[in-house]
Amino acid sequence: MITIKDKTFVPFLEPVELEKRIVELARELDKDYEGKNPLFIVVLKGAFLFAAELFKHLSTPCEITFVRLSSYESMGSSGRVKQIIGLEESVQDRHVVIVEDIVDTGLTMAQLTAQLSGQGASSVEIATLLHKPDALREDVRIRYLGFKIENRFVVGFGLDYEEHGRNLAGIHVLYEKGAE
Ligand code: 5GP
Ligand code: MG
Ligand code: MG
Repeated sequence: MITIKDKTFVPFLEPVELEKRIVELARELDKDYEGKNPLFIVVLKGAFLFAAELFKHLSTPCEITFVRLSSYESMGSSGRVKQIIGLEESVQDRHVVIVEDIVDTGLTMAQLTAQLSGQGASSVEIATLLHKPDALREDVRIRYLGFKIENRFVVGFGLDYEEHGRNLAGIHVLYEKGAE
């Protein structure tokens, strides 16, 4: 068990399990994107370690770029609108793969894929380390998935709790009495 600020977390996915699955995802991507010169868009901050592990094992020629997403409440709009920050590359006619840490409600990925498609990408697929199917509210298709997990809060391997815990080598789940 580890403590971050006021919360306790228990180990859930070990580093070796993560690496094994990420190697499999890299193989799938190598097979699917051979000769396509894909553009990988890594969503910071949470996906930085997933991306590092994935690209160490990916051999297909590709380009890699990094974005952050800012959200704001736009007047009259029903929900948060995500803006892409830092995308310098054109996605026009490119095969794009988004590299994300976790898909929860799916709102973030629904908006990002729609924006990239709107900018003329030939294809847009999602590679995410984690996904909580029970939390999904949007129609999001995940082509490359590391692990399906329960609807519980996780940290580690890039994911944070109030900006801490990103450096943990494995994924840890929030400890709730009676639910561990
Ligand atoms: P969505 O738009 O799918 O609801 O939210 C996705 C984002 O919420 C993720 O990229 C991540 O930043 C954050 N998030 C969702 N669930 C978790 C979680 O269990 N732990 C952490 N650290 N972040 C999460
Ligand atoms: Mg994220
Ligand atoms: Mg966060």
